[in-house]
Amino acid sequence: MPFSKLGLSNALVQAVTELGYTKPTTIQNKAIPVILQGQNLIAAAQTGTGKTASFVLPILEKLSKGQTQRKKRVRALILAPTRELAVQVEEKVRAYGKHLGLTSLAMYGGVDEQHQKARLIEGVDVLVATPGRLIDLYGQRAVYFEEIEMVVLDEADRMLDMGFIDAIQKILDRLPEQVQFLLFSATLSRKVRELAKSAVHDPYEITI
Ligand code: AMP
Repeated sequence: MPFSKLGLSNALVQAVTELGYTKPTTIQNKAIPVILQGQNLIAAAQTGTGKTASFVLPILEKLSKGQTQRKKRVRALILAPTRELAVQVEEKVRAYGKHLGLTSLAMYGGVDEQHQKARLIEGVDVLVATPGRLIDLYGQRAVYFEEIEMVVLDEADRMLDMGFIDAIQKILDRLPEQVQFLLFSATLSRKVRELAKSAVHDPYEITI
């Protein structure tokens, strides 16, 4: 099936075509329509399967549709285990969204906060963050969760292995109730399922 049949608008299809993607991968075929419908999702997909585009593309589609007025606050939150992954995912957000005019930021620890705070003040639609730094800046009221419509836990198993469970739980507890919840993990271990269960009842499940 071509990208255009998955329910993505021309601006996104054009962006992926420019990147040389000719057709969606398996996880993209399965996840994109489910996410566009607004369902909660847990998906088992390894790195290299095209999993990043499978959540970034429908998120950008939904944000671009709902863009009635410029909001300053974060509308989609993607949690990632490491700085490297946060940077990579945010680069994809920018590449896929290049025709949309949305803003994004990669936020992670180990560097000075000032630049990240300044960018948050300017306004960020899609925030890709590691859990620890996000909790820090949330505590300082540098970032607000009220306008968040979608949240992704990317590489959830790795985040649990790295001991981020408390930070993640804290973040999830503070999100608006009607948020769409997406979880991606190499494996859906018992711990990952427990985390998913605490966040959302009865999500749609995909394994590839
Ligand atoms: P990921 O599994 O998200 O880390 O993606 C693995 C690699 O596949 C990345 O370099 C993407 O740019 C690339 N990719 C993602 N989707 C497609 C696609 N539909 N066609 C070709 N390459 C893709």
